[in-house]
Amino acid sequence: MCGIVGAAAERNVVGILLEGLQRLEYRGYDSAGLTVMNADQHIKRYRAVGKVQALKDTCHAAAPVGTIGIAHTRWATHGKPTQNNAHPHLSCEAVSLVHNGIIENHEALRQELTEQGYHFESETDTEVMAHLIHHLVAACGDFRQGVSEALTRLEGAYAIAVQHRDFPDRLIGARQGSPLVVGLGIGENFIASDPQALRPVTDRFIYLEEGELVELTRSEVSIFGGRETSVASRAVTLDSRDDAADKGAFRHFMLKEIYEQPKAIRNTLQGRIGKTTILSQAFGVEAGLLFEQAESVQIVACGTSYYSGLVARYWVEALTGLTCQVEIASEWRYRTVAVAPNTLFMTLSQSGETADTLAALRQSKSLGYLGSLCICNVPNSSLVRESDLSLMTEAGTEIGVASTKAFTTQLADLLMFAMALGKYHGLTPELESELVQALHDLPMRLEETLEINEQVKAWAEQFTNKDHALFLGRGLHYPIAMEGALKLKEISYIHAEGYPAGELKHGPLALVDEQMPVVCVAPTDELLEKVKSNLQEVAARGGALYVFTDHQADFSDFSDTQVIILPPLHPMVAPIAILFCRCNCSPTMGKRSDVLLEI
Ligand code: GLU
Repeated sequence: MCGIVGAAAERNVVGILLEGLQRLEYRGYDSAGLTVMNADQHIKRYRAVGKVQALKDTCHAAAPVGTIGIAHTRWATHGKPTQNNAHPHLSCEAVSLVHNGIIENHEALRQELTEQGYHFESETDTEVMAHLIHHLVAACGDFRQGVSEALTRLEGAYAIAVQHRDFPDRLIGARQGSPLVVGLGIGENFIASDPQALRPVTDRFIYLEEGELVELTRSEVSIFGGRETSVASRAVTLDSRDDAADKGAFRHFMLKEIYEQPKAIRNTLQGRIGKTTILSQAFGVEAGLLFEQAESVQIVACGTSYYSGLVARYWVEALTGLTCQVEIASEWRYRTVAVAPNTLFMTLSQSGETADTLAALRQSKSLGYLGSLCICNVPNSSLVRESDLSLMTEAGTEIGVASTKAFTTQLADLLMFAMALGKYHGLTPELESELVQALHDLPMRLEETLEINEQVKAWAEQFTNKDHALFLGRGLHYPIAMEGALKLKEISYIHAEGYPAGELKHGPLALVDEQMPVVCVAPTDELLEKVKSNLQEVAARGGALYVFTDHQADFSDFSDTQVIILPPLHPMVAPIAILFCRCNCSPTMGKRSDVLLEI
């Protein structure tokens, strides 16, 4: 996911653009660039491969000045991460454009524009848009009309920001499939991929809808192509608690966010559980009716959210007796699905803008589902706006690339969902009350869990020079093992696989030797003895075992086994005290250094 920032002001905007990019670094990127219009009405461009700091250094040396400009962090999809491919892309020194997304028909457009005499400098799909806009603006003489016409020629997903030398006071932004917000200032206006980028300059935002185009000058904002409501009535004010882009005393955002989990869970539970009951009204006024009618649940999600969905399947089926299917959004949306009567369609996404998940939700609407419910961390996101019901995770902004508090709060929401649904499908008041108590205790248990940090750090150092790892779990902890493996891959670039421990003997056991660390999540539950026999197989092959368990379980007769004891947890709630990995290198620049595992 790349980042876009644009600004039109009376002051020099270079500092605002660079700070904005830095605040979007969490989205992952490989290069950065910006353009500003200088006093002689020339578009000046600066680009650098690598960190935003490299672009800052370039700008520091050149000291550009301009009151209007656009900037970008690129996550390459077409063409290598080189300076030439970095955005902004120019056309004829007149148009400058940045883009987040993918243009699927770029080859045909490239050919057409080449025949018209345009010269391409990059390998990106993006550059076609710069030339197309140049061509169409030249033909009609109007910036907005030219951009609008160009957008009708595009297939794919985009958020763009564009400036034109001949219309020096304005920027145009548009979105279709990628997020874009407008920031409203006093005598200055902005656009960005995420409000986070603009928090130092404004707290008032408009979330653009799909298919909308915004034209802004420093004093005016006009939105086209969407609802006929006034700009002012669409503005929302974010409060200062939403400014998460400060890592305080922590070494990196992921660590900070790991430590924020008890608070995030506390916030997520607030107002949703009473003393002994789950407050199902928290799911919305129509929730009762939908939950009562529901005969099955279909969950669709990507990445980490998909793993939360897999945990939820255990909860939903155990607490409601209804069937629950879970599928990866990018698979679900491209196949013909059979919809059982009265199936509730659920989506899970941290950002609420995950493209495949959003597309799946949109597709579900014509397939006869009972209704849609999303669990999401961003209140004004597309997923929330387009779902019948939504339940927020109250994790606050998550800056770290690998999900931590958004994942655990998602799990808390999902357990509450399974309980709320269960109330209409046979969940006994006794079990409800027992689980509510376990949820009340959860933030405290997580605080205790964080105390094992030093032990985990010591383990992590032992992983630094490994090339592979296996993560095992059974039952509710199998998806947790898969999430652990994903975290290790994502953050440390060490290959890892998550496996159901019972499957080990059907193949992967052959890979286990002294070089293969095996991490297992094995708290006391009805599957513990089975997990132990699976781990005996690992020990017999000389594999080093790293086991997360609790006081009641005994691993003393295991050789070459290290154990971390977790605080006592109700077996249903245990997956929420989850395994994480962290690493002290930049998650986006990815050189492996010390890899640290954390609960
Ligand atoms: N597809 C464009 C490129 O490769 C934009 C990628 C992005 O979203 O950063 O340059």
